[in-house]
This record gives sequence, structure tokens and C-alpha cells, in this order.
Amino acid sequence: MPDRKGLVAGNWKMNMRRADGIALAHAIAERAKEPHACELLVCPPATLIAAVGEALAGSGVALGGQDCHAAPAGAFTGCISAEMLKDAGCSHVIVGHSERRHTCGETDTDVRAKTLAAWRAGLVAIVCVGETRLEREAGGALAVVAAQLAGSLPDGATADKLVLAYEPVWAIGTGLTPTTADIAEMHAAIRARIPAGTRILYGGSVNPKNAAEILAHGEVDGALIGGASLKVEDFWAIGQACG
Ligand code: PEP
Repeated sequence: MPDRKGLVAGNWKMNMRRADGIALAHAIAERAKEPHACELLVCPPATLIAAVGEALAGSGVALGGQDCHAAPAGAFTGCISAEMLKDAGCSHVIVGHSERRHTCGETDTDVRAKTLAAWRAGLVAIVCVGETRLEREAGGALAVVAAQLAGSLPDGATADKLVLAYEPVWAIGTGLTPTTADIAEMHAAIRARIPAGTRILYGGSVNPKNAAEILAHGEVDGALIGGASLKVEDFWAIGQACG
């Protein structure tokens, strides 16, 4: 990954109560004192951002949100703005995760607006794209992802405020992964459509066993991890495999 520092990001999704989340964050902070070549990022649920931020303070491990609203403030019950995430200590926010695209009905237009909101607030936007199993089986994966990129990425993207995450929907939480060749092919196709130097993470059932092979490929700049980010040893092992 020439000129692109590795990034391993943990998406805790809707997991962790206060005590467990704080304990995990302290354990990650402790581990992060050891040498590691990649950047580490933790994205806890909104209820834990402040507490996890305190536990990670001074560790160099970054803090991110899992989603944001497009507006800076207003009458949007239950939503959180990018500005609020920034205010709570976040440096990153995930937008367009497939669980939001597919269970909350978010469109490329929504993702584009959220990406702009992230940038407006001074956050790095981690924009997720990826095809379904049916789309891959029909031979349409590259076209689907190209369309998501065209619809989701605003003008004005730069490598310092954008990270792409290629997350095939059928690989998330299933234990299935594409071949490294398929991941590399998709990353190369994405790279041709984004500013030079922008990092592209792979996400979907990354674990300590498959991380080294996936992350060794020069097209893969890091990983977005769900399930394996909930155990410090797994998260750390993937971090060690990166970079
Ligand atoms: C994710 O949800 O972003 C993800 C990659 O999940 P998992 O690692 O559990 O497949």
C-alpha cells in the first residue's frame, strides 16, 4: 500500500453496555502501547462515544461514529449530527454501511449528503459500498459498486477526508469472504474512481485467521471489522496483520 498508511477500524454496531464497552476500550488502549504499523479506529454505539473516548484518551486510537444525519442540527428525533460526533471527540464517521442501506432504506443520495455533512463537521467519512450475493452471482458486482460510488461521493473528495470501505453485503457477518483476487479487482476498480492516495478498506468477515492474506495485498489498505472488533485479541491480531 504505497504512501497509504494502514487503517483498521472496529465497528461495534449495536453491541456493548457501558461496563463492557469501557473495559474493551481500556484493553485496546493498553494494547496500542505496543508497536503497531497501522492506525486504529473504534466506532462504538452513540451511547458509549463519550465513555470510550475517555478510555482511549492519549492512546492514539481514534474514535468514530457509525452514522450521522445530513443536517447540522434540528428537529430530527433520534438522530445525531456530524457536528455532534465531532463535539463528542470523533474524528471519523462511517456512512452508507450496508446495514443502513438495506435495513434503513438509505440511498446513494442520502449517503452523499451524509458524506458532505461529515466533511462540513471536519470528520473523515468512511463511505461503504458493496454488492449483494445476487448482484455478484449475476456478474454485476463491479457495475453496482461503480454506481454506488457515482451516487454516494460528492465532488471535492480528497484523500485526507475520505476512506472507502468495500464491504460485499454477502460477506458481512456470514463467515464468507471473496477471494483475495476478487477483493483486489474491486479495490482497483474503486481506486480508478477516487482521488489518488485515498485508502480503501476491505470489510466482511475479517478475522485473525484470514486477515494476513487479505491485508497483504497491495490494493488493500486496511479493514473495517464488525464481529472480530468486539474481542481485543482479535482486533489487535488484525491490526498486527495490517501494514
Ligand atoms: C461490518 O459490519 O462492517 C463488518 C465488516 O462486519 P463483520 O466483520 O462482522 O463481517
